[in-house]
Amino acid sequence: MSDTERTHGHTHTERADACAPAASARSVAEQLAIVLGSVEPLPPVRVALDEARGLVLAEDVLTVTDTPPFDNSAMDGYAVIRADLLEASAQNPITLPVVADLAAGTDQNPRLVPGQVARIMTGAPIPDGADAVVPIEDTDQGTEQVTILQAPKPAAHIRRAGEDAHAGDRVLRAGSVLWPTRVAAAASAGTSSVLVHPAPRVAVISTGSELVTPGSPTRRGQIPDSNSFLLSAAVAEAGGIPVRIGAVPDDDDVLRAVLTELAGQVDVIVLSGGVSVGAYDVVKAVLKPLGTVDFGPVKMQPGKPQGFGRWPATDSVPGPLIFALPGNPVSAYVSFEVFVRPALRRLLGQETLHRRTVTATVVDGWRSPPGRAQYMPVILTHRTADTEDGSAEGSTDGSTDSIEAHPASRGGSGSHLVAGLAQANGLAIVLEDTSHIRGGDLITVMLTS
Ligand code: AMP
Ligand code: MG
Repeated sequence: MSDTERTHGHTHTERADACAPAASARSVAEQLAIVLGSVEPLPPVRVALDEARGLVLAEDVLTVTDTPPFDNSAMDGYAVIRADLLEASAQNPITLPVVADLAAGTDQNPRLVPGQVARIMTGAPIPDGADAVVPIEDTDQGTEQVTILQAPKPAAHIRRAGEDAHAGDRVLRAGSVLWPTRVAAAASAGTSSVLVHPAPRVAVISTGSELVTPGSPTRRGQIPDSNSFLLSAAVAEAGGIPVRIGAVPDDDDVLRAVLTELAGQVDVIVLSGGVSVGAYDVVKAVLKPLGTVDFGPVKMQPGKPQGFGRWPATDSVPGPLIFALPGNPVSAYVSFEVFVRPALRRLLGQETLHRRTVTATVVDGWRSPPGRAQYMPVILTHRTADTEDGSAEGSTDGSTDSIEAHPASRGGSGSHLVAGLAQANGLAIVLEDTSHIRGGDLITVMLTS
């Protein structure tokens, strides 16, 4: 059958092949344990800082030199000997000769003797002898001589060498995600490249003889391929590098040839469609005989039929991981979120594998099939004016009553309802043994955007 997913939870309304899970069916937790048990962070590679954003460090980064490397000015102004200016004020301006002009980048070091100052710009090295900086705003901005209107505090506006980090200090820890400020920390530590877990290359293939490229004319029986776009975008958003192959027809030889060619080029292959028991379920037909991809059903809705494993090894090099997801777009998306995304995060070396969850209040209830965990696309909204104590919306103190969950499509979890899915910003998780969700119930929701 196709991955037609029910909206109602009565077992007796299901077709024979969709009845209570077979004895071999696994819970979501068991399936996830199998998936994550087969995945390790990709072996580290050294990349230039330009290529490092978003990747996870596989080494500590130590500073090469003190940061900053020398005492320097925090302001545009004048480097001074403070003892010369203890009496300076607006009422008692003090005028001194300017003996040097120090721009950022200069290597000049004019030794100041009492009674002398140097003009200095932000970031320029403090000359020997100077012990404070007077900001330009407290002067007449003179270049030959300058009149100073305020006494500087001790060490005013001097950034000390090593104040940020000392040579040899660890500025970034292995396991850190290189977001922009961390790329900058590596750069200012004097590092040009970092050892990271690379992003996995993920081939995305849709299967189905009914699929055409979006935008091409469709004849009766044809629909646009949306899954390869859905899953490629989701791969990129998870930090992977999508290689979108597009749609291949329900033809075993064609699919086998595509997979064989890709096997040496990518870390992961994500397929959609063709995993059920229909006459043309090409993915199952090609992969099951290999013996390296398991199609045991998962006790979830949607997403019950799906496969996970690897393409066979060549010369004892393991083949890419294979996720064979159901074809219905909602089923494919839910399965991606539940299994593929955590696996990609582990390949990336990320410590956080899972989406954040919140507890939300159900507005209108729905049904869920007993014996299967249900993932219901929902729209989460913050409740505003109607809090009992009149307090503001969106409290951040962990209280749960300010978020409401509505199913994203009127058809409930109908797995073909892509337009509704596009409005959802969460997946409500209904436990295996729950068959009714009622208005007012509290429910756990995985935040998907
Ligand atoms: P299958 O799992 O191949 O039986 O497909 C289940 C349903 O999902 C069918 O209605 C397919 O037409 C639809 N479907 C499969 N693949 C895609 C895709 N790439 N884009 C949009 N719909 C799809
Ligand atoms: Mg199909």
